[in-house]
Amino acid sequence: DTGPDVEVTHERVETTDGREIEVAANVGRSVELEGAVEQGADGIGLYRTEFLFLDREEPPSEEEQYETYVEALEAFPEGRVVVRTLDIGGDKQIPYLDLPEEENPFLGERGIRRSLGPDADLFETQLRALLRAAADADGGTLSVMFPLVSTVDELEAALDAVDEVAADFDDEGVAYTVPELGVMVETPGAVFMADEFAARVDFLSIGTNDLAQYVMAAARENEHVAHLHDPLHPPVLRAIARSVEAAHDNDAWIGMCGEMAGSPELTELLVGLGLDELSMSAVTIPAVKENVSTLEHERAIDVAARALNAVTRGDVTNIIEDQ
Ligand code: PEP
Repeated sequence: DTGPDVEVTHERVETTDGREIEVAANVGRSVELEGAVEQGADGIGLYRTEFLFLDREEPPSEEEQYETYVEALEAFPEGRVVVRTLDIGGDKQIPYLDLPEEENPFLGERGIRRSLGPDADLFETQLRALLRAAADADGGTLSVMFPLVSTVDELEAALDAVDEVAADFDDEGVAYTVPELGVMVETPGAVFMADEFAARVDFLSIGTNDLAQYVMAAARENEHVAHLHDPLHPPVLRAIARSVEAAHDNDAWIGMCGEMAGSPELTELLVGLGLDELSMSAVTIPAVKENVSTLEHERAIDVAARALNAVTRGDVTNIIEDQ
């Protein structure tokens, strides 16, 4: 049921016993919006805004970003568009930003760490564009999430930055809407603090590419440890389960936007783990939607419970393949 001939559906999907799952697309540029719509995405679950900053001499202006975000929202009049604030550093470099040379860039100044430090001006410009777009777009709901947060202080500083932009707009008489706000769960710190994070925001989104890297201490790009950089290892699965529980205990919704979310063979496991939303490359949306609509939530919960009891990756694989 995961072949290329799966039919596209533009309807929302639910399991045979009525659990609705939002199935959204990951995009990085406006040109990808059309493909996401065509494949039946319910919305955008991860807009990687770093692509707006690449291949140019200077950062995009507030106006340029505003137009980009309005376009994304208007592509999904009934849906939700989750925009991730600028996430550079680590493997993502931007020449004009003068990123430091670091021995361990993945453990260095990246994501929200830069937005609250050397890139604070860019962060403010981006937030201004986002809050204006949320008010003006004739379209869907905007959600904004912060990358690589590992402390409550960072989260509160990011939320304060949103409040400051809103206060400036009040003074300037500019129309704005404060979007839904969320945090990416990508670090062990975020997993352990997911309760406190979820109490402060509307949603969490699990970035399994980075989460697997940091939980397993195995770099994403290092072929020698590729066997460890895998979200089916029990510690990563348990980190996901813990994050889901923390979100739901605090009335926040939780999605997943790492590669794992787009593996149709894992849909049952992920639904069973309790994810509310799965976001992926547009091409895999039809297969994942098909799988959601043919699986039974109760059975998925049982699969997830067994996977969470497994102590090796091999055991997890056997549980998934037995289905
Ligand atoms: C992730 O880490 O899972 C993620 C979605 O973010 P990135 O853009 O770094 O892959």
